[in-house]
Amino acid sequence: MCGLGSRPAASTPRATRRPPGGSPRHGGGAARLPARPFPRPLPLWRQGAKASGGMSAQRPGHVNGFGNEASCRKREDYLEWPEYFMAVAFLSAQRSKDPSSQVGACIVNSENKIVGIGYNGMPNGCSDDVLPWTRTAAHRLDTKYPYVCHAELNAIMNKNSADVKGCSMYVALFPCNECAKLIIQAGIKEIIFMSDKYHDTTEMTAARRMFDLAGIVYREFKPKCNKIIIDFDSINSRPSQKLL
Ligand SMILES: [Zn+2]
Repeated sequence: MCGLGSRPAASTPRATRRPPGGSPRHGGGAARLPARPFPRPLPLWRQGAKASGGMSAQRPGHVNGFGNEASCRKREDYLEWPEYFMAVAFLSAQRSKDPSSQVGACIVNSENKIVGIGYNGMPNGCSDDVLPWTRTAAHRLDTKYPYVCHAELNAIMNKNSADVKGCSMYVALFPCNECAKLIIQAGIKEIIFMSDKYHDTTEMTAARRMFDLAGIVYREFKPKCNKIIIDFDSINSRPSQKLL
């Protein structure tokens, strides 16, 4: 499970770099800093400190005039980018009305910025109370398949950038052949998928054939944790840095 202190994360060079001429403001190796004289003038945290409680009262371990050593050290159990993007895809899938399959997709550019999110659903303006959601029927027209927009399509169409050329797509299920065409035409260069449970179907086989021809990289996602819990109450139960 991620996000609850169960997993140490590797430090990045950027995270441990000190700003020129001073100590880091947000942890990043604060524990290894040499002892420094108490900064002048007295910082506000010290002026307002009470004898009991709160990080602002903890003079021992002070390293940078902003708090104590422990509270200034960065978190080690933060979510890494790949888990974050796949989690966004999975969270988006929870918006789907499809009773049998909820799929989400998240498009990310080279700067780790999300530029599109989508989930499977009926086309805009087509009531999902009118169109069928069933997988089987006497006539295909009475199944969901002719109507549903897949998550990949919606993520591409929902893009908030001029285009998605060179981007990566995080998606719960390996894309079908129809989505593969869209992905290729949109210029997406990498697919990171969670499941390939329809690997042997005609649709997925055709998708792989097109991806291979077009030079699209696809790889299975191997999460470092298999569960991420979103706890809305956590904001109230964890200590937060006080504004001084
Ligand atoms: Zn598809």
